[in-house]
Amino acid sequence: MRHRGRLFVLSGPSGVGKGTLRTQALKGIEGLAYSVSCTTRSPRPEDREGVDYRFVSEDEFTRMAEQGLFLEHARVHGGPRYGTLREDVERELDAGHDVLLEIDVQGALQVRSLVPDSVMIFVLPPSEAELERRLRGRHTETESELRSRLESAKRELQQAEKYDHVLMNDDLDRASEGLRRIILSYREGGLRK
Ligand code: ADP
Ligand code: 5GP
Repeated sequence: MRHRGRLFVLSGPSGVGKGTLRTQALKGIEGLAYSVSCTTRSPRPEDREGVDYRFVSEDEFTRMAEQGLFLEHARVHGGPRYGTLREDVERELDAGHDVLLEIDVQGALQVRSLVPDSVMIFVLPPSEAELERRLRGRHTETESELRSRLESAKRELQQAEKYDHVLMNDDLDRASEGLRRIILSYREGGLRK
């Protein structure tokens, strides 16, 4: 019988590099599936429907939440709503694939209580100043969105101790290798939950 896959949750403050690390993990680790989230935010020019996100209206999102379709969902930074589709995750895990979620801290803490054997990874910035520099450098938020994300970051950083692993994203290659090692260690049985 095929083993069920394992759920890995990558989380941390906005701008810390979660998306960057996720892309590298998906490229470099065979058999790792990504669960594409639903969101009510407007697509950015580079966003691909069904690849980066599934873009839905507020009404649709509310309906989906009421139908229990989400494993977790949250309103992030007081703005759009984001959610992970339960069925997508279950299908991949049942097929024996490990699944990576890249979600905000509120959502990650929901997953932690719902799926106790999930592996929780918190990505830490080298400093608050560097976090701000990365967020500004990305040019994807307005000044007030940026302020709100930095405010949330202060609260989110206090949750790091609830995670199984804290991954410092100073040097990208080193952090990426760290993430790879965590995932492969669980596969090889070196780390257990
Ligand atoms: P998140 O998904 O956590 O919001 P991103 O992956 O979008 O963060 O990264 C935010 C910005 O920081 C991007 O411009 C990205 O290229 C950059 N970045 C990510 N990791 C590093 C790193 N280790 N060193 C310097 N810049 C980084
Ligand atoms: P962005 O809109 O910049 O792509 O993402 C904003 C934030 O939403 C990021 O912190 C990202 O991790 C988080 N996010 C993306 N998808 C989900 C999801 O399905 N659930 C939750 N809770 N957060 C998500």
